[in-house]
Amino acid sequence: MKHTEEFKQQVRDYVKDNPTLLKKDITKKFKISHETLKRYTDPEFEKYFNERYSKYHKNRVLNDPEYKKSFNKHCQNSHKRKMANNPVYRDKFNKHVKDRYHLRMKNEKGYKEKISKRWLKNHNHKMETDPEYKANWKASLKIQTNARREKKADLNENYTPADLEYTMALFKHKCAYCDSQKDLCIDHWRPLSKGYALTRTNAVVLCNSCNASKGAKLPEDHFDKEFVGLIEAKLDK
Ligand SMILES: [Zn+2]
Repeated sequence: MKHTEEFKQQVRDYVKDNPTLLKKDITKKFKISHETLKRYTDPEFEKYFNERYSKYHKNRVLNDPEYKKSFNKHCQNSHKRKMANNPVYRDKFNKHVKDRYHLRMKNEKGYKEKISKRWLKNHNHKMETDPEYKANWKASLKIQTNARREKKADLNENYTPADLEYTMALFKHKCAYCDSQKDLCIDHWRPLSKGYALTRTNAVVLCNSCNASKGAKLPEDHFDKEFVGLIEAKLDK
């Protein structure tokens, strides 16, 4: 694979080990151009090359719609490929999306409205175009809430005001995730929908926006590993 760090290092090592070889023999062996060889072995030239290329690239993106389109396609494909094959990239990207959502929910005026407007627009569109959605959307919402009520009764949830005091103190009256002190609520750490009752060892303090974004997901499907470990340690104390 060309242009990976390993490949670059391989070329550099080869150049170092064979100081008497001619440039053209090296380029021939690795099937690279003279310019590429220079980039790999001369950091100053690499810097100059990258600057020149980035200028050229920006200019073309601005002025050449075809180029812009193919560049965007290239980025999308590379993103898709990395999401499918590279777990480190995937975790990082998912965390980035989540963090951005939280930040915007907290700080950006009108973001909440924007989100609900988008939902409404999508909803209206589906109501017009998707008969199945039209027939079922209310029922599916209702089923969710009924199931919630039934689950609560089944599990005989009995979380008392004293338990609430305990949980609040345990989390120092702050959102466990973002430290916000506003709009706090007690939430199921492991979700009710998957059969976990609200107890002292399953109750966390979250702000409304962190709670909303977690939804009914299992903690490990939403938060990063380190945070999950931290909270579990706290709860099992
Ligand atoms: Zn929060």
